[in-house]
Amino acid sequence: MTAITDVLDSSASEEYVPLAGEPAAPTGKQVAVVGAGVAGMACAIRLALLGNGVVLYEARAPERMGAHLHEPAPASASDQALFERLAAQGRIRCEYGRRLGVDLELADLHLWHDAIFLGIGLASSRVLALSGSDPAGLVDAGRRLAAVYALDDLLALPVPQRAIVIGASRGAVGMAARLKQLGAQDVTLALRHALAPDGPEEEVARACFVRVRGWVAPLEVLRDVRGAVESVRFEQTRLLGDRVVDTGGFTEIAAHAVFKAVGRAAGAERDTQVAQQSREGDRIEVDGCFRTALPGIYAGGDCVAARLERTQARRHGLQAAQAIHADLQA
Ligand SMILES: Cc1cc2nc3c(=O)[nH]c(=O)nc-3n(C[C@H](O)[C@H](O)[C@H](O)COP(=O)(O)OP(=O)(O)OC[C@H]3O[C@@H](n4cnc5c(N)ncnc54)[C@H](O)[C@@H]3O)c2cc1C
Repeated sequence: MTAITDVLDSSASEEYVPLAGEPAAPTGKQVAVVGAGVAGMACAIRLALLGNGVVLYEARAPERMGAHLHEPAPASASDQALFERLAAQGRIRCEYGRRLGVDLELADLHLWHDAIFLGIGLASSRVLALSGSDPAGLVDAGRRLAAVYALDDLLALPVPQRAIVIGASRGAVGMAARLKQLGAQDVTLALRHALAPDGPEEEVARACFVRVRGWVAPLEVLRDVRGAVESVRFEQTRLLGDRVVDTGGFTEIAAHAVFKAVGRAAGAERDTQVAQQSREGDRIEVDGCFRTALPGIYAGGDCVAARLERTQARRHGLQAAQAIHADLQA
């Protein structure tokens, strides 16, 4: 397997290298790209070419997309054409008029996607509280919608009475089991498909009295008037051929807290150029693989480094896509 540090080449030429080709077979992973600027567009295209599903969230409305002060379009004509082809093939879905921090929460995005790339330009790093001094750990734990990165993190939280853990990975099953051991009364493991019958995950869930609810995909976290988590609305799924698809049916599961297990970022070698730049000003700090302090969340372009040119912002997006893909496959 390619080591993550092999993916990035900080000395890479800044020259424009056109993107081309057909998308690889679907990996089953879904990545949120926030910001349809140079970095976000490049990241979305490469992620889709690598076989990942991409949802692109952009603050501007579609009719305002060419209205940058300084550029007629966020991508070159060839990138734009490839982007449109991938969108027509259903490999990239665009949601315009969605502004992170206003009508889109980072914690919700985290719940719905396997990884997030932030390409939001000069705006918003303070709003997102992702500067380097913020500790890795929980996203939005204060509102009890938490993304927990390792079992030990659970010890820092008050144990909820009813919890939902989303995911089918060994980490998710371990987290559900740990919540039960810590005293949670009712823990549901919710997953888009079924656990393998009599596999190790199923065995752990059974032994720890974790309720397994298969064939559901999270749609929305519902809150009470005080903003506390009340339940999660799911769409029911089913198998169509070898793909898991939504059925159009809905179900709700009550919970006081929702968790999702994501891998803890490995201590990657830092790209000194990116790391140096990302310390300047109010930028999101990233490591050499464009990972932020929060595992599963990456950033690139103007929001991590000052005074970039378009080709550099594009390179950030492309390299972040490689890193995200490699992390998701690891
Ligand atoms: C005035 C000016 C002139 C420049 N001239 C040149 C030049 O001549 N040549 C050159 O190579 N470079 C130039 N640059 C630099 C170049 O434009 C940037 O480096 C490049 O655009 C950065 O790309 P990006 O994707 O990081 O950010 P952007 O291109 O700024 O894209 C960010 C995107 O994120 C969206 N967004 C922002 N906040 C949110 C949010 N909260 N939620 C959802 N979406 C959000 C924005 O609407 C935007 O579409 C110039 C920059 C400026 C400011």
